[in-house]
Amino acid sequence: MPLTNQQIDQIEQIYLERRNRAWDEAERKRAAIEKAVPEFPRLEREQAELRGRLIEAKRGGSLRLAAEIDKQIRAQILMKETLLQEAGYTLADLEPRWACPLCKDTGYTDKGKCVCFRPTLVSVLYHDSALWDRVNEESFDNFDITRFDTRPDVANLGGDSARNVMVKNLRAAKNFVKNFGSRMQNMLLYGPTGTGKTFLCNCIAGTLMKEGWAVVYMTAVEYFRLLADMAFGRSEQTIEDLMDSTDLLIIDDLGTEIETTANLSLMEETIDRRMNKKQSTIISTNLTPDDIRHRYIERIASRLLCYQTLPFGGDDLRTSLRSRRINL
Ligand SMILES: [Zn+2]
Repeated sequence: MPLTNQQIDQIEQIYLERRNRAWDEAERKRAAIEKAVPEFPRLEREQAELRGRLIEAKRGGSLRLAAEIDKQIRAQILMKETLLQEAGYTLADLEPRWACPLCKDTGYTDKGKCVCFRPTLVSVLYHDSALWDRVNEESFDNFDITRFDTRPDVANLGGDSARNVMVKNLRAAKNFVKNFGSRMQNMLLYGPTGTGKTFLCNCIAGTLMKEGWAVVYMTAVEYFRLLADMAFGRSEQTIEDLMDSTDLLIIDDLGTEIETTANLSLMEETIDRRMNKKQSTIISTNLTPDDIRHRYIERIASRLLCYQTLPFGGDDLRTSLRSRRINL
C-alpha cells in the first residue's frame, strides 16, 4: 500500500520525537550524574585528552607509549565505573535509551527499513503513535512482581493470591511472545480494574513491536467506533486492511462498548476473520466468563471462552500505589 505524503511526514515526526526524547533523557541523566559525582567532568576531559594522545602515539609509531596510554585509559574507565556505581549509576546511563536500538530511532539501518518501521507505520494508520511510549514505560524488564498482593483473593481468584496468579500469567505472556508467529494464539485477560491486565498487554505488545510485528491496541469503545466507520466508508482503511495489516490485535476493556446488533455482528465477523487467517488476538475485560456468557450471544461468547483465559485479581494497584506513596 503506497503511503501518502502526510503519512510519511507523520512517521518522520514520530521518529524525530523518539530521538529527541532519548537525547533529552540522556542529558537529564548526565546532569544528575555530574551533580552526584563532581569529579566526573574532569575524568571525562582527561580521558578525551588521553585518547588524543593515544592516536598521536599510534600515528608516530610509538607502540610502547601507545600501550602505556591505553593502560591509563582503562584505569580511568574503571575509576569512572566505580564512582558511578557508588552513586547508583552505570556508564550505560550516559547513552540515550533508544526505543529501537537497532536503528537508534531513525527507522532505517544500513540494510534498509528497520524492523520497527512496520509497527510504527501501523500505529500511524490507526492513530496510536503513543503506543511506543506506553510500551517503553511498561515492559517485562520493569515488571515488579512484588507489587502484587500475597493475600488470598476469594472473590476473583478462588482463594489464590494475586502474586501467585501473576507469576503464572507472566509465564503465559512470555510464552505467548516466544511462540508468536509460529501459531495463532488468543488470550482473554479478565478481572477487576487496576489488577495488571493493561500492564501485561503492554509488555507483550512492546516485545513484539520491537521484533517487527504490527500490533494494534485499542479500547473496545475505539475498536467498535472504528469498525463502524470502516463498515460505513467513513475511514480511509477498510476492515480487511485492519485485519490484514495487524499481526496482533489487542482490545482493551471489552464490555465498556455500547452494545448494538450492528456491533455484535461486526464483532463476530472480525473474530471469525482473524481465526480463519490464523491471526492472534488478545482481549482484556472486567467481565467474568459468566458475565461474558450472559452479555454476548452464544456464538461470540463460545469463541471468546475458547481463548486462553488468564484471571486477574487482588487490590487495585493504582489505589494501593497511591496509598503507599501517601504513607511514605
Ligand atoms: Zn528500528
